Amino acid sequence: MLTSGWKAVSMVDVHGKVTFTLWLCGCNLKCPFCHNWRIAERRGCFELPRDAMLEELSSHSFLIDYFHVTGGEPLMQWRELKGLLEDVKPLADVSLNTNLTIVRPLEELLRFDLVDHIATDIKAPPQELYGLPKNASEKLWRIFLRGLEVVSDYKIPMELRIPIPKGFNVIPWVEEALKHVNTDFYVVLNPLVGRPLTNPRDGKWCSQHCWPRQELLEIENELKSRRIKVFVNKWAM
Ligand code: SF4
Repeated sequence: MLTSGWKAVSMVDVHGKVTFTLWLCGCNLKCPFCHNWRIAERRGCFELPRDAMLEELSSHSFLIDYFHVTGGEPLMQWRELKGLLEDVKPLADVSLNTNLTIVRPLEELLRFDLVDHIATDIKAPPQELYGLPKNASEKLWRIFLRGLEVVSDYKIPMELRIPIPKGFNVIPWVEEALKHVNTDFYVVLNPLVGRPLTNPRDGKWCSQHCWPRQELLEIENELKSRRIKVFVNKWAM
């Protein structure tokens, strides 16, 4: 399977948790704000030296809360990922960061009890944030909603991340998404940041829609008024 590498101890990939994080290459979306677009486009990727990584995981497993798989979109390589997780599970609990638009393969992993935690983005409005034509984005949004239901059916806890763009009202989309969640979750608000802190895929788009302020306050207040547990990544503000 194609990877861009791993980090044995990370404290920034899942809120409040220590993870061993693996990045897998490839993605089915083209988010304009994506700062991992090189991984998404499989640039600089290499075949995972599986035994070496598992050995390192084994020696760090006492330190970590999760083996966290991210990308790119890890489910692009779901068959290989399934085989890997079968070897990982005896060593660590598994957290999967997925855009939740590749649902049947996800169900396959959940059915075999290979995932303990899901992290996903509510990317809204999808026509803007998926970076794809309108029809494709609308279809993928419906699949995403189904993905939230599948995760809920298996009672897997979720980190729901909300990327906050400038110039769009994400609240109606978030409201719609939350209607499909029926499992433990908390929300992490990620105001979109651009250069010089990140290198987004589409610099022009980001110059218009990164660095929100009012939009962040509005969604934070809205979620708190509903007594939802919410954390804000203010590192960039
Ligand atoms: S942000 Fe995530 S889902 Fe979007 S293109 Fe980048 S890796 Fe893919």
